[in-house]
Formats: sequence, structure tokens, C-alpha cells
Amino acid sequence: MLNWSKIDTVLLDMDGTLLDLHYDSHFWLNVIPEQHALARGISLDAAKADILKRYQAVSGQIQWYCLDYWEQQLSLPIMELKRESQHLIKMREDVPHFLTELKKAGKELILLTNAHPESVMLKFEHTAIDNYLDGVVSTHEYGVSKEQQSLWHQVQKDLGFNKQRTLFVDDSVPVLNAAREYGIEHLLAVANPDSQQPHNEIADYLSVTDYRKII
Ligand SMILES: [Mg+2]
Repeated sequence: MLNWSKIDTVLLDMDGTLLDLHYDSHFWLNVIPEQHALARGISLDAAKADILKRYQAVSGQIQWYCLDYWEQQLSLPIMELKRESQHLIKMREDVPHFLTELKKAGKELILLTNAHPESVMLKFEHTAIDNYLDGVVSTHEYGVSKEQQSLWHQVQKDLGFNKQRTLFVDDSVPVLNAAREYGIEHLLAVANPDSQQPHNEIADYLSVTDYRKII
């Protein structure tokens, strides 16, 4: 279990960690291939295959998370399309209680997300999750994603957190691996990032499916 007395700062991922990943999964795996098929006049299967290849080419890199990059790659109005399914944006139901309790306990709460700033603003607009936070960092400010060690060095320098007394929460194992390599002492994986998908098996990290059980 987590030893909360040894934690001052909590770095929190956004999509899949504080918010239901279903919106993003639906957007990138359904909406984008459908729009790509329409725009190019190709079958949905061909569009899906092409999109998947493009995703894999930049997986884990800042481009993967960059709306401008996809707008250029695909010639699609990404933000406009994102707004069309914005009704799916929602906070995980265990999050308000979790963040309120952490706040009461005096923890510093920082959002550390690979999401593009425009996507972050859209999510805030629909969830007001920023009301719980002491700080917000989009890795686009640094031009590198959480998967890269250089991001961690730069963010630590700017925020000044003590990595021995910091908890990092994320739903991505490659991202957790990078945080561990950098030396973040306390790590927590989210095993159920998407409300519409089965839970993930997390072998290497302490994991959670309901934050209310760990506070
Ligand atoms: Mg995530």
C-alpha cells in the first residue's frame, strides 16, 4: 500500500487517470478512421489500417499527442471533430473524493499530461477538474513526452518537487517505466482507464481500480 506520510506531491496524468479514457479511445479509434475513410474515399478497413500504421510510427513521441501534427498528417479538422463527441468527456466517478481527500491532507496536486493544450482546455471546460489542482503541465510546453527522460529532468527543475516524496499516477506502463527510471519513488498504475473496456493486468506496479479504496 501507499505510505501517504511519505508523499508531499502527487503528479497526476489526465486521460485514463482522472478522466474516462473512453472519450479518447472512441475519438482516435473510431471517429478518426471514419473521417479518414470519408475524406480519402477509401474503405473503413483500409482507413483503419492506414491510421494504425501512422499511430505506430510516432507511438510514445510528442507527435502522437499533438493535434497540429494530426491535422497536418490527415488534413482533418481535429478540434472541430473532438467537439462533436465532447459529450463523452467525463471524470472518473472516484476522482472528486480522491482529490478532495488529498487536498485536505495537504498534498500538492499537479496535472502532468501529454495531452495537447487545446485538448486540456476542452477537458477542463467539461469537467472543471482544474478546480482540484495546484498546477497544470502539458508536456507540449517542453516538446517532449513523459516517455522521455529529458522531460522529467526539465519538469523537476521547474516545479522543484522532491522525487523521493512524490507519487506519480498514470495508466500507461511505458510512462510509469520512464518515471521509475528517472527515480520517482512512489508509483501507482490505473488498471481500468476506459469504462468500456476490461481491466488491464498490471504486473510491475501497485495498481488501483477505485481510488476510494486507497485513501
Ligand atoms: Mg493516460
